Amino acid sequence: MIELKNIRHWIFDLDNTLYPNTTNLFDKIDDLMCQFIEENLGVSKEEALKIKNTYFHDHGTTLNGLMKKHDIDADKFLEFVHDIDYTLLNKDEELGVQIKKLPGEKIIFTNGTRKHAQKVTERLGIEKHFTKMFDIVDSKFIPKPEVEPYHLLVSTHNLDPEKSIFFEDIAKNLLPAHNLGMKTAWVENDDDYCKEGYDGKHVHYRVKSLIDFLTEINKNIN
Ligand SMILES: [Mg+2]
Repeated sequence: MIELKNIRHWIFDLDNTLYPNTTNLFDKIDDLMCQFIEENLGVSKEEALKIKNTYFHDHGTTLNGLMKKHDIDADKFLEFVHDIDYTLLNKDEELGVQIKKLPGEKIIFTNGTRKHAQKVTERLGIEKHFTKMFDIVDSKFIPKPEVEPYHLLVSTHNLDPEKSIFFEDIAKNLLPAHNLGMKTAWVENDDDYCKEGYDGKHVHYRVKSLIDFLTEINKNIN
């Protein structure tokens, strides 16, 4: 942990990183994406699911695929898929305590929207600790793990990558951060994305519990 002493920019992905994937919030968004595809492309449920997964895999986000292949209006899509029940999320006081203690600024870097990030962090009770949010609109709709949004994030907010750490549940999204010189922490989920042709060297820390990990960092650096 000693090498985290110089970190001044704490960058966090949002979904399934700041709340556990067992919350199933993202499953609701997934369902709405399928429904959107079904209705707007006039395809069956099964076909919609296939399209959603293929575009996510090939284009970083389902939206990016829909924009490229079907000229779908981004705002319409984002509005539709984020119409979910945020009461699934509960206040996470301990997470707030640990995030607050980290020395430096805390930033959210998401392939979702600012509005969604605000709703999620408000429900978790941690919104006041984040001074910056970099969303899919700031990324000019180019999603992680494409390298462009990482460069944009760094230049827009004047970040020093050597003094940054990025927390993410999708391991391949950590590769561009690692290549920029950031520290990386993989918040483990069910899928082992390291298998996807990556050697795993871009993952500096494996995080089973975000709270436990941040608690340990704070013990060591404060
Ligand atoms: Mg995520």
